[in-house]
Amino acid sequence: MRADMEIKFLSGVGERRAALLTMELGIRTVGDLLHYYPFRYIDRTKVYRIGELTEENSSTFVQLRGRIVGYAYLGDGRKQRLSVTLGDSTGQIEMVWFQGAKWIEKRIEVGREYMVLGKPTYFNGKANLVHPEIELVEKFLARGNFGMQGVYGTTERLTSAGLGSKGIYGLVCTLWEAVKGRIGETLPGHVVRQLGLMSRAEALENIHFPSSPQKLRAAQYRLKFEELFGIQLGIVSLKAGRTTLKNGFVFARVGHHFLDFYENRLPFKLTEAQKRVVKEIRKDTTSGHQMNRLLQGDVGSGKTMVALMSMLLAADNGFQSCLMAPTEILARQHYASIAKMIAGTPTEGRVAVLTGSTKAAERREILRRLASGEILILVGTHALIEDRVQFDNLGMVVIDEQHRFGVEQRAKLWTKNQVTPHILVMTATPIPRTLAMTLYGDLDVSVIDELPAGRKPIKTYHLKEAMRLKLFGFMKKEIAKGRQIYVVYPLIKESESLDYQNLYDGFEHIIQEFPLPEYRVGAIHGKMSPEDKAEGMRLFAEGVNQILVATSVIEVGVDVPNATVIVIESAERFGLSQLHQLRGRVGRGGNQSYCVLMSGDKLSSDAEKRLEAMVQTCDGFELSELDLKLRGAGDVNGTRQSGEAFDLRIASLSTDGQILQQARDVAEQILAQDPHLTEPQNKLLAALRERYKPSGSIDYGMIS
Ligand code: ADP
Ligand code: MG
Repeated sequence: MRADMEIKFLSGVGERRAALLTMELGIRTVGDLLHYYPFRYIDRTKVYRIGELTEENSSTFVQLRGRIVGYAYLGDGRKQRLSVTLGDSTGQIEMVWFQGAKWIEKRIEVGREYMVLGKPTYFNGKANLVHPEIELVEKFLARGNFGMQGVYGTTERLTSAGLGSKGIYGLVCTLWEAVKGRIGETLPGHVVRQLGLMSRAEALENIHFPSSPQKLRAAQYRLKFEELFGIQLGIVSLKAGRTTLKNGFVFARVGHHFLDFYENRLPFKLTEAQKRVVKEIRKDTTSGHQMNRLLQGDVGSGKTMVALMSMLLAADNGFQSCLMAPTEILARQHYASIAKMIAGTPTEGRVAVLTGSTKAAERREILRRLASGEILILVGTHALIEDRVQFDNLGMVVIDEQHRFGVEQRAKLWTKNQVTPHILVMTATPIPRTLAMTLYGDLDVSVIDELPAGRKPIKTYHLKEAMRLKLFGFMKKEIAKGRQIYVVYPLIKESESLDYQNLYDGFEHIIQEFPLPEYRVGAIHGKMSPEDKAEGMRLFAEGVNQILVATSVIEVGVDVPNATVIVIESAERFGLSQLHQLRGRVGRGGNQSYCVLMSGDKLSSDAEKRLEAMVQTCDGFELSELDLKLRGAGDVNGTRQSGEAFDLRIASLSTDGQILQQARDVAEQILAQDPHLTEPQNKLLAALRERYKPSGSIDYGMIS
């Protein structure tokens, strides 16, 4: 049997169930099934006594052994249920079936002894089991299975086709009988020995049929390592490939574009961190290698300045640059601030902005000046990626808040010149280390870990509706001091119209509370035309409006240093990293700033934790680690790619950091000696690297 044999040919599957397995779980081949691991295990050696069960000790599945005392149908009509009483020497417990009652009734006999497996639910302190698994004790003993039993993830549709967890387990048993003894190794002997790993055959056996908790742990370790190691081999190779090639543009000159700005126009003293990063970029761009650098810096740390200086250096060496931002507002704002900063320098007039809403005539003119090399810095949105945007000599690409761009979109910019330009990817979403090592493991990383001097930590409060009048009073006080305020509403796709209604209602409410002529309130949201949005933003940025009511379009990058308060409505509906991004809109000047999280009265425990964390800390890294824990790696806001690019089956980026580090170390060590994995002892590794290439389906190789 080959690993790529279609699952429908496995005995007991057939066309219909095969189609379901593929659709619901992505299981297409027997190899897929072999690598579909239990997500949990039930210890079948542990048998509880009924009298022992308490709400605390039995929050998961428990196994009982007892005799059936009696049964009855309770309720009537559609609500009818079968109630069966199970007893042992310590007490009795009720088992309930709402469905399949007749089928169960035929299979139970009063007075006989059964093994029962179920998850207790409690009413008034009294336990009962709904739809437990039940089996005659003799039959259970005859099966000789007393170890840990895997629980497989399944869906309702599969369950109704007989493929609940137990059904899938059955298929895995059938498959294992057919393939055991013929499982090949995927890691070379020297790696297995160096790390003391379990063999692949033993690991697969124990992941499905653990013979002891120790073996299960060893199996999990081996399979997690293999997965993370395969990915790291690819990433480390990618990075090595880039740094061994000598094909990067060399920005040797420091000329007038940079110096005139640096010496005459720099509006503040650079932080040490900014200086360090500029040096790192200088080093990269003079090395002859192509730069591929990720710049992480918390919101407000001054990444834009670093980008500008890098682009000026490119200009000094005869190269054009582009700065790509995720939204129209942000692109226009970047353009405005760059234009202002370089006014009066040789770069003045050689910067342009291009977005989806740039008018045709203006666009033509920009494209012409771009192709002729007159424009040195082009700022824009993803409109920059379009084919008709042709540079004369693109040498530097800066991507701001990159998580908004897909991997493919990014790749397209690289091809705007025959030689790949230097690339600086900037993100304010602090990426947990494990995620960074996986998602951006091929990039070099710079960190701005210092905020400009004089910044005061933002004070964050969590308020409920009853405090709203107090909030309004507080807002008025801040406005009286000459400050400005954001009020943000969530906008979540599924219920868009409802969300807009909330925004409009909120806007009305604010206008009533803050009436003209004393107060001026503006609003921006995604449904407005780009011009109207830009105008709304301008009125706020220039201080004409004191309050800006907005959807989360202002989430990234927007920079109005005089704004000191951000009120986030329905804060429980935002993710943690989004909340942190939003909060970063204030605290950008020297004044004390505030973030007010408004929420409903009843909160889920996760929402409660998120808001509590926001109140407790302003540290983006701390928050992102927590976010990763709360939501799992595939779902961290803005880094959704992680789940798609790397289809992790067993390893978890949130809990397997140590294994990941080990995988990284071993990959680096091996590739340093054998960069192309051509030596005989590394032959298997070339295949492993290929198998775990980002995206695309995973090919497991041969079973035998
Ligand atoms: P982010 O890293 O979030 O993109 P910005 O580049 O928008 O941050 O900078 C935030 C604010 O801090 C801007 O108003 C910018 O002009 C200002 N700023 C940047 N660097 C410094 C510095 N070294 N000293 C003082 N203010 C700075
Ligand atoms: Mg920014």
